[in-house]
Amino acid sequence: MDPLHEEDLSPVKGLTHMYPDRVLLFSNHECSVYCRHCMRGRKVSDSTERMETADLELCFDYIRNHPEISDVVISGGDPLNLSDSKIDWILENLEKIPHVKICRLGTRNPVTLPMRITNDLCKIIESHNTDHLSIFCNTQFNHEKECTPEAKEAILKLLKAGVSVGNQCVILKGINDDGETMLRLHRKLLELRIRAYYMYDPELIPGSRGFRTPLAKGIQIIEYMRGKVAGMGIPQFVNDLPGGGGKVNLGPNWYLGFHKPSRNHVFRSAVRGTYHLSPEPLDSEYEEFYPEISEDTWSKLLQNSYSAFKGLGPLGEPGK
Ligand SMILES: *Cc1c(COP(=O)(O)O)cnc(C)c1O
Repeated sequence: MDPLHEEDLSPVKGLTHMYPDRVLLFSNHECSVYCRHCMRGRKVSDSTERMETADLELCFDYIRNHPEISDVVISGGDPLNLSDSKIDWILENLEKIPHVKICRLGTRNPVTLPMRITNDLCKIIESHNTDHLSIFCNTQFNHEKECTPEAKEAILKLLKAGVSVGNQCVILKGINDDGETMLRLHRKLLELRIRAYYMYDPELIPGSRGFRTPLAKGIQIIEYMRGKVAGMGIPQFVNDLPGGGGKVNLGPNWYLGFHKPSRNHVFRSAVRGTYHLSPEPLDSEYEEFYPEISEDTWSKLLQNSYSAFKGLGPLGEPGK
């Protein structure tokens, strides 16, 4: 099953062009692990889906003929399951396309086969991480138990090759579907020098049902994490919209709205749960942009939480 319609948006075999400036390139269909939640499970290890050198060349031709493409996300399978020489060849091809500025390697190998991140491989990656091409890596740690010393070493090698490393985790029911587990994972990732990137719900594929959690869980997880770990350790909870709609992010609502008469925005504090005011500039012409707080809500807020309003009087004047 192809939950995201990646194949409909595929102008040539192995390439998905959904966003104007970015493409997803499937380099190969081998992987070091079979993840039960894998959204590309349909392709992994399927020999009919093999990407031949000629297929990859057609992908490079397409990218070469589309100057709007500046960012190539290489995924699979797992691109780091290819041989060093093949990786060298792919990166060399991308590096030679003047409008391609960024290349991202989507790989779980730092987690699942950290010994794959060899010095030789890092030398190859570094040799293409140049003035013309900036190489990033997005990996997938889903639990702090996966943050092994071996993984840490693999990540450090990538960083030393100039590769910025981010993490894309998947919420898995019964494994990491609560704020505390995700918080511990992301604190540990920062120790491994990995920045949080995305957090996903598993895609609707056969076999993923047991892992699926309500959408609310993802929002609650982010709500729990905010204030407890550095911002660079908080992923964006994204939903990859079915039907090729792309990704959108969802988050808790810290913003209650705008109180027009006093020109104040009302926020909820993530650390304290209290309400706080922040004034809109007097010369702003954006009053209509904000959801409005009714007088009713406003007076309730003042009654219930006035003492918590930070440093501002009820009409947004500096407090005493
Ligand atoms: C996720 C994705 C990308 C990359 O999206 P970012 O939000 O830039 O990480 C590009 N193309 C496709 C088809 C994708 O699904």
